[in-house]
Amino acid sequence: MRKAAGPALNRRMMLKVAALGMTGLAAPAMIGRAAGGRMSWRDGDPFSLGVASGAPSAGGFTIWTRLAPQPLSPDGAAGMPPESVPIVYEIATDDGMLGVIQRGTVAAAASFAHAVHVEVTGLAPGRSYWYRFNCGAAQSRIGRALTLPSPDSEPDRLRFGFVSCANFEHGYFSAYRHLADEHPDAVLFLGDYIYEGVGKAEDTVRRHSDGSEAKTLATYRNRYAQYRCDPDLQRLHAEVPSLITWDDHEVQNDYAGQWSQTFDDPAQFLLRRAAAYQAFYEHMPLRPGRSQPTGPNMHLFDRFRFGRLAEFSMVDGRQYRSREACYRPPDKGGGHLETDQGCPERRDIARSMIGSQQEAWLLDGLSLSSARWNVIAQDVLMAQLRQKTADGDFGYWTDNWDGYPANRTRLLQHISRSRVRNPVILGGDIHSFWANDLKLDFNHSKSETVATELVCTSIASRGPPYELFSKCLPDNPHVRFFESRYRGYACADITRAEMTTRFRVLSDATNPDATISTLKTFVVEDGIPGAIPS
Ligand code: FE
Ligand code: CA
Repeated sequence: MRKAAGPALNRRMMLKVAALGMTGLAAPAMIGRAAGGRMSWRDGDPFSLGVASGAPSAGGFTIWTRLAPQPLSPDGAAGMPPESVPIVYEIATDDGMLGVIQRGTVAAAASFAHAVHVEVTGLAPGRSYWYRFNCGAAQSRIGRALTLPSPDSEPDRLRFGFVSCANFEHGYFSAYRHLADEHPDAVLFLGDYIYEGVGKAEDTVRRHSDGSEAKTLATYRNRYAQYRCDPDLQRLHAEVPSLITWDDHEVQNDYAGQWSQTFDDPAQFLLRRAAAYQAFYEHMPLRPGRSQPTGPNMHLFDRFRFGRLAEFSMVDGRQYRSREACYRPPDKGGGHLETDQGCPERRDIARSMIGSQQEAWLLDGLSLSSARWNVIAQDVLMAQLRQKTADGDFGYWTDNWDGYPANRTRLLQHISRSRVRNPVILGGDIHSFWANDLKLDFNHSKSETVATELVCTSIASRGPPYELFSKCLPDNPHVRFFESRYRGYACADITRAEMTTRFRVLSDATNPDATISTLKTFVVEDGIPGAIPS
């Protein structure tokens, strides 16, 4: 048995543990019922939120857990004491944890809600590993993690799911369970992983536990804790490594950068964003060295390469956004329809969805990529969707890429000019399935299709009225498929020859035992942008 690789207990953690000394650490032996039979946090299951893995590299990955014996305690502390607590992690080569090859101790700090993010290194590329955490006598479930294939290898195939919009109040997470049953290599979370708000009781299937909108660190923490208590989501995280980006509801509906939907003072709103980002970080298997937030800022965008077969760019579509076009009190804080005449600002070339720094990173990465498939995974619909207004003009929704058309054009022109191989854009947010041709000029059907867009429906969140978008389709011939009446997810298989994506639909998201079926399958062939129904 080998000792834990150095970086797993990283330098910052090491210093922290050293500085705290054992007096600062709530040593397992000293806690419990020993002191006069008093109840302690050890009386609950500290691993009630499960485990997760993500951020894979060719030599490792990040594993996550958070100690939460009373996951929904109103103070957001989940029943934990204000001290750091040591957690032992183990990495094994088998799903029974018989061949443990790394073991180490990390401190679960109260300042990060007793969450731990362990960057495991020194492993072999392109294979599964299993992991587990121990805290005193308590043991977590076993999770599966994955290392990426070595960068110059040529994997035959890859399977991944992509999901978005899991409003707990609108339904059960059966879609997560059915995705786990498909044993994908990874699941891509494209945003609205939680919802900050609360609905009317009569409209909900199950309630957000605190009954109020999440705005503070404690209330965001509780929202994640409640979601992670869901057995289907917990199972998906334990069995399938995650690649993650966010959308708006992780903070506030339709926010953009420092601009809230509710016209809050940006300085105040950034305090809320800081709390939301910290709670997000505390619950996701993200690399601490890259993504640990600083105040309201968090480095989320990242790139993952499955050998020469596929490269995934995980894009952050919220943190660096320009303010929504024609942002005006009292009712134009979030997304709204704008015509060219009513809102010339929308087309301003200085406006950006992803910010100049991330844009440079994305474009450079695409130019340099030698992968056969180049997947850009992000939060919202990219294709233009013009909608006829009452006076016969066209309106455009300001909260998705239609609100940032100059940024979209720059990206698509770059893809075209740099001859990016097999570019596929994935998105969510709109609670409906879409398969779209992405064109340099959406207003001319003869314009070159430069990339394929596939959008997954919601896990649970209710969809938009089917008629609303159906009647726009004749004005948007680059839309090859639209369907909003089902909840579910998408599952894609990539080979060298093609990418096959199945749109998977639940029998009923309000039934915890819902079954799954395939609504539609689309194929993208190597070298030919555009999705073909099969
Ligand atoms: Fe959503
Ligand atoms: Ca959204």
